[in-house]
Amino acid sequence: VKPLSKLLLAWYDRAQRDLPWRSAKPDPYHVLVSEVMLQQTQVATVIPYFHRFLAKYPTLTDLSNSTEQDVLRLWQGLGYYSRARNLRDAARQVVAEHDGKLPADLDALRRLPGIGPYTAGAIASIAFGRRAALVDGNVARVLCRLNRLETKIPAELWRLAESLVPADRPGDFNSALMELGATLCTPAKPKCPICPLKKRCQSLAAGVQDQIPLATKRPAKPIVRRWTFAIRNGNRYLIEQRPPTGRWAGLWQFVTLPRRDETPPSVRLSAPRRLGPIRHDLTHRRYIFTVYECQFISGSIGPRRWTTLKQLKNYPLSKPQLQIAQMLVQ
Ligand code: SF4
Repeated sequence: VKPLSKLLLAWYDRAQRDLPWRSAKPDPYHVLVSEVMLQQTQVATVIPYFHRFLAKYPTLTDLSNSTEQDVLRLWQGLGYYSRARNLRDAARQVVAEHDGKLPADLDALRRLPGIGPYTAGAIASIAFGRRAALVDGNVARVLCRLNRLETKIPAELWRLAESLVPADRPGDFNSALMELGATLCTPAKPKCPICPLKKRCQSLAAGVQDQIPLATKRPAKPIVRRWTFAIRNGNRYLIEQRPPTGRWAGLWQFVTLPRRDETPPSVRLSAPRRLGPIRHDLTHRRYIFTVYECQFISGSIGPRRWTTLKQLKNYPLSKPQLQIAQMLVQ
C-alpha cells in the first residue's frame, strides 16, 4: 500500500491553491509573515495584508528597523494586534542574535516572541525542509476524521502528526494536510467522494464523517461594556492612545471609559447625544461600545490629540474604533 503521504502529496501537486507565500523555494521571512497573519484569520483576508506588508518591509531587517506604530498601522483591521508586535520583536531578535537569518531549528524558533509549536513547525518544515510536524485547526479535524477520534486531544494529535510527516517534502506534506482541511475535509459537509484519502478514512468507512470531531459546547462569552465619547471641536475629534500593554495595546481610540457613570475627566462637554452601540466579538469575549457624540466646551486634554476624521488614517485603530469613525462620517 502507498503511504498516506504519497497519496496526499500527489493530490496537493495538482489541487493546491495558488497563494502568494507558496513557492518551490519559499523565503523563510515570507513564511514567517504569512503564518503569523494566518493565525485566527482567513486566507482571503490575509492576502492583501501580506502584499502590503512585504511592499513596506521587503526583508526581515527592514521590519526590524520599523516603528511599532507603523507596523500596527499596516496591521489595522487584521485583529489580534499582539501578533504584529511580536512579529516585529521577533525580527529584532533575529537580527540581534541570528545575524538577521531566521533559524531552522525548532528550539531556536520557539525562543522567538510569538512563535508557538505550530508556527515553529511551519517555518522549520516549509521554509527549511526539516522533518517537523504541525497541528492547526484544519489538521486536527483531518486527523480526527482519518482516525475516527471523537475528541481533539492535542498531545494525541501532535503524536499522530509526527508519525505521519515524511522526511521527503515535509513542508509540502504539512501544507497539504492543511489544504485538505481547508478545501475538502471542511467542518460541515466534507467532500469525501473526491478526497485523496477516502480509502484510508475510518470515519468515512463508518459513515460518521459528519459527526467527527464532536462539537464542543462553548460557554457563553462574557460581555464587556465600554462607553465611548466622540468629543468634537469644529471638525476635529479628541483621540487617545491605549496603554502599552493589554488588549489593543498602543492603538488609538476615541475617548473610551470603562464605566457608565464617569464622564471623561478634566474636560467640560455639551450634553452627549447617543449614536448607538457597536458590538465586537473576540474569541473569548464580546465587547459592546455605547457611542456618544458631544461638543468640547473647555478643559485640559492632557496627552490626547485633536484630529480630523481624515487624519485618523495616520493612527492605528482597532476595528470597533474604525466602525465608530465610520459612524461619525455618516
Ligand atoms: S474521506 Fe472525508 S472525512 Fe475522511 S479525510 Fe477525506 S474528506 Fe475528510
